[in-house]
Amino acid sequence: MYLDLISIKNDKKVILEFVEKVYLQLGEDYSNFKSNKPFLVSGTVQNTENGFYLKGEITGQVATKCSLCLKEINLNLNLTVERLYKNVADEDSFPLVDFKINLDELVFEEAVLNLPLKPVCHHECKGLCPICGQNLNERECSCSSEEIDIRLLPLKEFLEKQKGV
Ligand SMILES: [Zn+2]
Ligand SMILES: [Zn+2]
Repeated sequence: MYLDLISIKNDKKVILEFVEKVYLQLGEDYSNFKSNKPFLVSGTVQNTENGFYLKGEITGQVATKCSLCLKEINLNLNLTVERLYKNVADEDSFPLVDFKINLDELVFEEAVLNLPLKPVCHHECKGLCPICGQNLNERECSCSSEEIDIRLLPLKEFLEKQKGV
């Protein structure tokens, strides 16, 4: 999806308003996230002395799993974006393609910047019991908290031998 700036190419007074739907293409690098519904991207573009100045909002939803308890969750993204576009981009701006802004790229770049590394269903998620796999948000399991760390078992046996148990 491209936003065409031809109408404001030579006009610095007109502000171009836009509202578009864009599907977020996440690809393999973000395979733990899914986007089923289109994102909404809206805002304005103005032809300024420095380039084409875009100011807008990006809203949408991605589905993923809680990194602790594996429950399916939806993350809402409500992002504000400000960018400068130029025909030849420099370090402070993004490139135009034939006076067009690539909205797919815009939404992708802004969305992935805001995806959490470790999504959680709730900031106090208790996760899964490492022994039986019970979701500890639903109920406590009977695995004892006194469960012996298997890495310490040889030490325990050694100490018992010393005591002649
Ligand atoms: Zn969770
Ligand atoms: Zn357990």
